[in-house]
Amino acid sequence: MSAPPRLWPSELSPALCRDIRGWCELWNVPHIVPEISVAISRRMTTSLGRASYTKMLIKLQHTLLDPSAAQLLREVLCHELAHLAAYRLHGKRIRPHGCQWRALLVAAGYPPKVTIAAETLPKCFHIGAARKRRRPRRSAWKRLKRWVLG
Ligand SMILES: [Zn+2]
Repeated sequence: MSAPPRLWPSELSPALCRDIRGWCELWNVPHIVPEISVAISRRMTTSLGRASYTKMLIKLQHTLLDPSAAQLLREVLCHELAHLAAYRLHGKRIRPHGCQWRALLVAAGYPPKVTIAAETLPKCFHIGAARKRRRPRRSAWKRLKRWVLG
C-alpha cells in the first residue's frame, strides 16, 4: 500500500486519488505516489492540465471540477500523471508525448491524445474564447520550458 499524494485538493474525489495509485501500480512506479502533488489552477486557461517533473506537480484547470467534466478530469489527470511516470521510468530526455508516454496511456485504457477538440469539451469550458484574446509573445526560454514540461 502506498501513501496518498503529498497535496490532494479537497475538491477532488478520493476515487481519483485511488485512480492515481492504481495507475502508478499498473505502470510499476507505485513509489512516486507520495512525491506527487495535485493543484487546481484558476489562472490556467489555454491548457487543461500541466505536469512539472521537477516539482512532481500536476496542475489542473479549475473548469475540470464542473460535474459535467468528470470523465474529462479523470483523463487529463491520467495524461499528466503519465508524464511524471514516463520521466521517472525513462529519464528526462524522452519526448513529452513520445512512445514511452503513449504506452502508459494505452495501458491505462486511454487513447494517447495530446489535444482535445474544443467542440467536444463540456459547455463549462471557455478555452476558445480565451485563445482569441491577444497574448504577449512568449520568450524563447518560456517556449522551451513549456515544451519540456509537456
Ligand atoms: Zn501532455
